[in-house]
Amino acid sequence: MLNALKLRVLAVAAFLVAVAVLSLGVGWVGYMSALDQLEQRGRSDLALASDRLTGELGRYRELAVLLADHPVVGDTLGGNDAGIAGLLRETADKTGSLDILVVSAAGRELASASGEGAETHAGAPYFERANDGAMGLYHLVHDRYGQRTFLFAAPVFSDDGPVMGAVIVVVNVDAVEAVWRGARPTVFFTDELGVAFISNRSELLFMAREQAQPPRNATVDYAADVLRPFMTHTITDRRGRSVWSIEGQRYVPREALHLSLPLPVIQMTGEALLDVAPAQTLARLQAGAAAAICLAFGAMLFLATERRRTLAEANIRLEAAVEARTAELTKAQSDLVQAGKLSALGQMSAGISHELNQPLMAIRSYAENAEAFLERGKTDIAAQNLGRIAELARRMGRIIRNLRAFAKQESEGMTDVDLGGAINAVLEITQARAKASDVEIVWDEPASAITVRGGEVRLQQVVLNLVTNAMDAMEGQNFAQRIEIDAKRVDGRVELSVRDTGPGLDEPDRIFDPFYSTKQVTSDGTGQDGMGLGLSISYGLVQSFGGMIRGRNHPLGGAVFTVTLDAATAREAAA
Ligand code: ADP
Repeated sequence: MLNALKLRVLAVAAFLVAVAVLSLGVGWVGYMSALDQLEQRGRSDLALASDRLTGELGRYRELAVLLADHPVVGDTLGGNDAGIAGLLRETADKTGSLDILVVSAAGRELASASGEGAETHAGAPYFERANDGAMGLYHLVHDRYGQRTFLFAAPVFSDDGPVMGAVIVVVNVDAVEAVWRGARPTVFFTDELGVAFISNRSELLFMAREQAQPPRNATVDYAADVLRPFMTHTITDRRGRSVWSIEGQRYVPREALHLSLPLPVIQMTGEALLDVAPAQTLARLQAGAAAAICLAFGAMLFLATERRRTLAEANIRLEAAVEARTAELTKAQSDLVQAGKLSALGQMSAGISHELNQPLMAIRSYAENAEAFLERGKTDIAAQNLGRIAELARRMGRIIRNLRAFAKQESEGMTDVDLGGAINAVLEITQARAKASDVEIVWDEPASAITVRGGEVRLQQVVLNLVTNAMDAMEGQNFAQRIEIDAKRVDGRVELSVRDTGPGLDEPDRIFDPFYSTKQVTSDGTGQDGMGLGLSISYGLVQSFGGMIRGRNHPLGGAVFTVTLDAATAREAAA
């Protein structure tokens, strides 16, 4: 019992662990697929934002290239100022550039749209590149404008080839950024030092993650107090995705999927931070749903098995009770059989003493006669008398043998019984009473023996009960007392009927009930002692043979009892 309980507790625990593992798995798979989707969307968002930035900056780059070919610029560099200031100012206004500068090959600023300061650009990386004949590109927080700027420096070639100066377009990064500030997702662009120089979240500007080693050939530089540390912790998953947990940022997700896209055209890297909280919520929901479904199924399964178990236990208890009861009933039944027999014996004892008395008397007179005849020398008549004596003695022996067999508790099982023989034995026992009460017995024994399945003594008991009941019913009746006995085969079975010419059954429905009797105890104690057990015992006996007993009133008067029995198997019958 304790073990079974332990087993169940273990099973429940194992189930819960399995559910936990399963829902964790479901949650994990859900999280991964949500991250996949997030990554896809994030990549296209990042590509879009990057395209927008490079496209925007590209306009200024082209502007620098176009102006570099402008004749007025060439003239200015050739020492002939033909209204360059006006051209630069007008162009800057129309294109939204912060400033446009014309610088000589020596790095001296010859003209500017803002018309301010003549500083030297010699040595600045963007200028040196333009001086080399390539497009110079640079970003910095410009002291002169007090802002973040992007510079494009286009070389101006002289007619005969060499570089004679450069046009520098200064772009206001703030103005470029303004269009997509606050847009989703969080996007920023970092330079070779890993510093966020452009972003749609202004608080991310100038933040730098700690880098193991800044590139040696870095051309940008920042004043030390401008940069701020970007506190993040990276978790990289097996697919190479990295999720950053970010500290102390209000408008940046606390946990975010990090994506990056190199943008060589502007010498920067586009980076995006995608909030993973929705993906986590979704995964949690999926895991919760999986767990709930499993738990619901589990609970149902548990209840079902519990119910089956209780049912099975109840069944076992019931079967045990039925078995015990059956044993009790079987015992009671066999006791009843015996009691019934004893009662039948009691009924018969009067008749039997008469039955034995009669031949005894006859034997005495035959013996006396034989003696007399012997004295007279008539030996042949004496021998005749002695023969009669022997026959009477044999008959008495038969009666006693039948009685002994009847009184004995039958332990034999089912055999093949000769029905005619059983009827004959009963008639022999009841013969004396029949003669005394003037009962006519009609019994045409069939020519071929009819054998049935049953027990010999028990079958005799049934027939005896039917015959004595019939005699009891007709007792004292002053018209024809007749008992008709018939045995025949019907549809592979055997039918025995006992019919009398008595008053019939008072309550045909109740005659097989134990202790149902209409008989009174008679003062002389002969026969009519009405225990009410005879028929109920007979009923049980016939049923134990697999047969059936019925009693009804005959339409022409009197009661008819029919006993249907299984015929002996053909093989045994033949044997
Ligand atoms: P008992 O003979 O001790 O009364 P039985 O069980 O043998 O018990 O019979 C029950 C009752 O059935 C009888 O008391 C009687 O009323 C009725 N009965 C049985 N056989 C006959 C019959 N042949 N004719 C009329 N009544 C009968």
